[in-house]
Amino acid sequence: MLYWKQVTCAVCGTESQQGGIASTSSFGPPNLDLREDFVRRGVMNAWIQECPGCRFVANDLSNATAAEAEVRHETGFAEAGRIEGMPELAVRFIRRAYVEERAGQLSTAMRRLLNAAWVLDDFELDASAIRMRAANLVVSLGAAADIGQQLQRLDLLRRAGALTEVVNVADEMLSGELHPDHRKIIATQRRLAVEKRTEAVSLKEVWDSEG
Ligand SMILES: [Zn+2]
Repeated sequence: MLYWKQVTCAVCGTESQQGGIASTSSFGPPNLDLREDFVRRGVMNAWIQECPGCRFVANDLSNATAAEAEVRHETGFAEAGRIEGMPELAVRFIRRAYVEERAGQLSTAMRRLLNAAWVLDDFELDASAIRMRAANLVVSLGAAADIGQQLQRLDLLRRAGALTEVVNVADEMLSGELHPDHRKIIATQRRLAVEKRTEAVSLKEVWDSEG
């Protein structure tokens, strides 16, 4: 459920009306990339606030660390996501990813880029480049990447059309010790890549599939 509230930007002090979400309950079954059926643009809009004064972006504008506020002055911040035809909401997520990447928060930056990709999906725009960037952030995490993030990387690569890489990464993962559920997801991603399927696939399809 969406609602509006007055928020004061922690960076520049500008007050603005921002949307929030009163309930976090979910409704539909998630896809392999964890997007749920109910997640539509209106809801995603409330996940990230943009200050009309200084263009800073955050989940909650009233909270910003000094390091985050500093990033706002960088040219890279102003330019992040500024690609022709990029929807405004996607720009916000990409800018927030930039802030988090600069602040060393690679896990959250990865999720922001995934959110930006969902926005592009909704507009039926090509999200391959954004997904590749998100997949590369998982690589940057190295040993700090948990199994959930490693599974996400496979889905990001597949959705971005990097199918050979999916097969290679999947084979490497499958050669190690894995929880049976994770093994099934990886094997399914590998099969989908071989079948050249790059669309969103529901977890239900994974559980319903053989082997
Ligand atoms: Zn501001």
